Amino acid sequence: MLKLLAIAAMFLSSAEPPIAIAVHGGAGSFAPGVLGPEEEAEARADLRRALDAGWAVLAAGGSALDAAVAAVVVLEDSPHFNAGRGAVYNAAGEHELDAAVMESEQARAGAVAAVKGIRNPVLAARAVMEQSRHVLLVGSGAEAFARRQGIAFADPEWFATERRRRAFEQAREQAASGGTVGAVALDRHGRFAAATSTGGMTYKLPGRVGDAPLIGAGTWAEPGCAVSATGAGEYFIRTAAARTLCLRMNWRGESAEEAARALLAEVSALGGEGGFIVLDRRGDAALPFTTAGMARGYRGPGGEFVRLFADPLEENGAPLHQSR
Ligand code: ASP
Repeated sequence: MLKLLAIAAMFLSSAEPPIAIAVHGGAGSFAPGVLGPEEEAEARADLRRALDAGWAVLAAGGSALDAAVAAVVVLEDSPHFNAGRGAVYNAAGEHELDAAVMESEQARAGAVAAVKGIRNPVLAARAVMEQSRHVLLVGSGAEAFARRQGIAFADPEWFATERRRRAFEQAREQAASGGTVGAVALDRHGRFAAATSTGGMTYKLPGRVGDAPLIGAGTWAEPGCAVSATGAGEYFIRTAAARTLCLRMNWRGESAEEAARALLAEVSALGGEGGFIVLDRRGDAALPFTTAGMARGYRGPGGEFVRLFADPLEENGAPLHQSR
């Protein structure tokens, strides 16, 4: 008996703490039938590459922050998601970008909003966190800061895509669509990080800032919880969504799934829709959404997957719980 206990103790002590990463590519523009099969396959492949990039950092013992940022850079560079390349157009026909990062250690955070021309806004957000005394820089001041930090800029053609151009034309008459990218990560040292980047909502007014760069609305990380949101940002700001979600988990003892669904219910009650990716301290994820689809992926103790739509609609997949 003693021997058995000793073996069990040895096993437990040698078990490494969990690492995990979850990513999203937005809830706004992934409804079944909107993209062709080729584009869907490319979007899935890019989500997988984002997971790989983050996972490589975590598996090598790197930080949750490095992992979340690495994953978001991949999604920003993909033309299939509304962040960096492929961002939506505002009402002036320009790309105005928002991004944020946060890590659970010391509640460190950085963000940029309404910036133009920065190829990877998430890197500028990180620079604000690490190289300035501030948390949020906007517009031309943020661009000047990013330039001084040696962060890469790109021409308007880099961000431009035919699909978003069409959405811009349609949005003159119709409701705005959006999309965002985000990542949440847990590293071997138990640190959590969240990163979110977006072009915002199609046809938004110049100067409009969404939830993504607002710490506590679209992006939040604290011990035991990290969140990145997507959806109509105004509702996520009005519900202080990301921070409230983590409070429900850490103070009320709700599961990630329960807390995320409670916040989505609040958002829905106000007339909004969207989704979250959330990690808990075991490295398990909840990825619920109220839209027709949400590009998303996860790798961690709970397995691995990449999906675009609600599960019953997902080809090649056994129907699973919607958030998984
Ligand atoms: N949350 C983003 C914003 O409002 C857009 C989106 O995720 O669809 O800027």
